Amino acid sequence: MALIRCENVSIGYEGQTVVRELDFSINVGDYLCIVGENGSGKSTLVKSLLGLKNVEKGRIIYGDGLKKNEIGYLPQQTDVQRDFPASVYEVVLSGRLNSRGFKPFYTAADKSMAAEKLELLGISDLAGMCFRDLSGGQKQRVLLARALCATKTMLLLDEPVTGLDPIVTAEFYQLIRRINHDEKIAVVMVSHDIESAVEDASHILHLQEKMLFFGSAEEYRESRVGKSFLSGAEHSVSDGGESNV
Ligand code: ADP
Repeated sequence: MALIRCENVSIGYEGQTVVRELDFSINVGDYLCIVGENGSGKSTLVKSLLGLKNVEKGRIIYGDGLKKNEIGYLPQQTDVQRDFPASVYEVVLSGRLNSRGFKPFYTAADKSMAAEKLELLGISDLAGMCFRDLSGGQKQRVLLARALCATKTMLLLDEPVTGLDPIVTAEFYQLIRRINHDEKIAVVMVSHDIESAVEDASHILHLQEKMLFFGSAEEYRESRVGKSFLSGAEHSVSDGGESNV
C-alpha cells in the first residue's frame, strides 16, 4: 500500500481551482520531485498533503502507517524563520511538537531524538548556537534535523535550496540522497531545478494546472514533457498530460 495516494484531486482557493486531476502515489523509499513553473500549484499541493488544506475534489489517502501529522516538513524559508531567536537545539527539538500530543514537556525520548538528528546531520557542535547567527546552509541543515524529528517515514521539502550557493546546494542534495537511501525515508521535494531533480529523484510530478507528467525520472527524461523542459525550452506543453501512474 502507498504511503500517500492522490485520487483525482483538485485543489483551489475560494472556488478558483489551482490544480486539478492529480492521480499519483508515493511509496516507501520514493524520492519524488514536484516541478512546475511559479504559480502551478506546487505549494498548494504540499499544504494539502500535510492536511493543512482541504481538497475540492477527489481524495488523499494515507497508508502504510503514515499519518499526515507524521510527515517531516521543511517549509519555504521566510525572513521570520531566518531570524528565529532560539538555540539550534530548541529549533530541532520543536520538531517533536506535533507528535507530542498534549504532553506539556518534552520527554527524554524527544530529547534523545533531537540529539540523534543533530549527530546524523553532522551539526551537534552547533547545538548551543543561536539559530539566526548561522549561515544559510547551516540553517537548512538545522531545519532538516527539525523535520527529521517529526517523522520516521516521509520528508516534505518546499524549495529547500533557495538562496544557497552551488557548493552548499550540492552538499544539501547529497544529504537528502543519503537520508533517502540510508534512513529509508521517502522524500517529496518541491524544486525549481528540474535538471537536479531528474538526477536525484526516483519519480517526477510535473504540474501545470493539471498533472502534466507523473512517472519515474527515467520515463520523464524520455517523455515529450521532460525533453522539452530539460532542453531548457521554456514553452508550455499544455495539450494533454502524460502519466505513467
Ligand atoms: P507554486 O508553489 O507552484 O508557485 P502556489 O501553490 O503557491 O504555486 O500557487 C498556485 C496559485 O494559487 C497561484 O495562482 C497563487 O496566486 C494562488 N494562491 C496561492 N495561495 C493562495 C491563497 N492563500 N489564496 C488565494 N490564492 C492563492
